Amino acid sequence: MRKKVSIVVPIYNEGSGIRNFLDRQLKPQILKIKKNYDVELLVVDDGSEDNTVDMVRASGCFKKRTKVTPKLVAFSRNFGKEMALTAGIKYATGNAVILVDGDGEHPVELIPTMIEKWKAGAKIVTAIRTQERIHYRLSSKIFHLIMRVLGNKTTEGATDFRLIDKEVADRFRELTEHNRITRGLIDWLGYPQEYIKVKASGRGSSRGSYSKKKLRQLAINGIVSMSAKPLILLGKLGGVIMLLSFFLGMFIVVQQYLMGDPMQLHWSGAVMMCVFIAFLVGVVLVSQAISSLYISQIHAEAQNRPLFLVDKTKSYGIKKK
Ligand code: UDP
Ligand code: MG
Repeated sequence: MRKKVSIVVPIYNEGSGIRNFLDRQLKPQILKIKKNYDVELLVVDDGSEDNTVDMVRASGCFKKRTKVTPKLVAFSRNFGKEMALTAGIKYATGNAVILVDGDGEHPVELIPTMIEKWKAGAKIVTAIRTQERIHYRLSSKIFHLIMRVLGNKTTEGATDFRLIDKEVADRFRELTEHNRITRGLIDWLGYPQEYIKVKASGRGSSRGSYSKKKLRQLAINGIVSMSAKPLILLGKLGGVIMLLSFFLGMFIVVQQYLMGDPMQLHWSGAVMMCVFIAFLVGVVLVSQAISSLYISQIHAEAQNRPLFLVDKTKSYGIKKK
């Protein structure tokens, strides 16, 4: 029996580029895969507010040539890319599931290579980004360092552009946490991974709907999860106090005690004491914020709301589960 490959595409407000992506980029690849496999194309609309859904519906010529009808999972509102990927994996029925962004940023021409690796036995095939803008690279380095210190094994540059075997997808479907980063969870499952190196390219269609702020939040999510803003603000305040008092303390030590007070400030020991106490206040605020973040995560898990809501009237082609 022919095996089936599912391609999952999360999209949010990609109306301007989604047809180009489906018809120009993805179609040639699907035609290639079709020779050996059945193909399922699962588009997950993450509550787009523009004409994305109409554009997906309109990709009829797509169907004519490939004989693949895109299936649509439509969310009732925007739940975020991680949930869109989760839904895609949930509804995918293939023996392998390929996750690929719908903004044309992932080099879809690598899909056949991914499938080759899968055919050769790989359970997970992950695309690794080799070239990124310097500040992204730096922040990703820091993020991975923190993750490593915290005991999470992560791969630097690993993207969401992945192929996972049905077995991995089944295990993934059993995971229930609300605060999730799909690639992190896939890594957590622990199956051996194969890697494909890709060069990072610019966005194919529109602006990144993940702003820098969102990316930062994603990073915080990865460390403690949850976006309790006031707590984060408190922690930031603590961090600022910590930094300022640290540098002030250093200044006093160097200026007064090491250099013999050349600026003639004559600060007393009490000043040093105050600075030290301020530093400790900063430490307390930061640690409080961190523990509150954990608590808020527990709160979110305890609420146990559904991860996402599917708009059944808008969706089509999928099993209404
Ligand atoms: N996306 C989504 N929900 C969101 C934001 C983005 O489904 O809330 C989709 C988006 O349409 C794209 C993919 O996820 O197909 C990656 O998004 P983006 O390019 O903004 O993120 P990045 O490339 O920075 O990871
Ligand atoms: Mg992108």
